Amino acid sequence: MKRFVLILFLFAFVCFFSCKKDIESDKNDNRKGHKDWSYDGETSPEHWDEIFENSDCGGEHQSPINIVEAKTIKSETEFNSSKILYDKEIELKEVKNNGHTIEFDFDKGDSIHYINENYQLIQLHFHEPSEHTINGIRYPIEIHLVHKSTKNNLTVLSVLAKEGNESQLFEFFESFLPLKKGEYKVINKTIDLTTLFPVSKDYYSYSGSLTTPPCTENVNWVIFKQPIVISLDEVLRLKNTMPINNYRTEQPLNNRIVYINYENK
Ligand SMILES: [Zn+2]
Repeated sequence: MKRFVLILFLFAFVCFFSCKKDIESDKNDNRKGHKDWSYDGETSPEHWDEIFENSDCGGEHQSPINIVEAKTIKSETEFNSSKILYDKEIELKEVKNNGHTIEFDFDKGDSIHYINENYQLIQLHFHEPSEHTINGIRYPIEIHLVHKSTKNNLTVLSVLAKEGNESQLFEFFESFLPLKKGEYKVINKTIDLTTLFPVSKDYYSYSGSLTTPPCTENVNWVIFKQPIVISLDEVLRLKNTMPINNYRTEQPLNNRIVYINYENK
């Protein structure tokens, strides 16, 4: 009997350690395999450079930033409203909730010409509240229009939105909401994106990064100075469909210059 108890005890002892090891290795695999990231908790922005070791997330030229207007330098315009070569009718492919934002994807996409290169519009998505701040002011919504060139260079146009009257374009965008995490809807409809931009095309520009992992650097940022106007309901509908505060915090400017580009020089 004593021998039986001893064997049982030994068995339990071995099992305890091997099971514990399994649980730990599962935990490690999870961290390596899924590469989850989020806007709060253990996978929030301050941990992205640890989770994504080979990414640019810990780099010197990251986005977003706070733009201090008094410190900007006037630039010769490389990009103005006439260079937004958006057609009146472009094909909107689908909308998805990727768990981080609401994203609209474009099939052929519209193009822009920026610093001697043509860029195709790939997708647009939203942040609530804004990621970039201007003179410390955080806007209710920031829209990112992500463009890629044939050389895989990236230019992001950023439109800030403040609360006021309803926007017809946002009513259209939000007619596909709510969308659950991982859910998408095929649209295949034409849309006029030229109405998305503010009346004044003055903009700030600087060299930064994607604001989500892998935080790739050498992204051209074009941030329109004048916010557009959308209604409180439109802000709330987006807010309720995206993770709370889906914005990355301000990154140090380091040795970068932010330019101000005036439409009418
Ligand atoms: Zn974004």
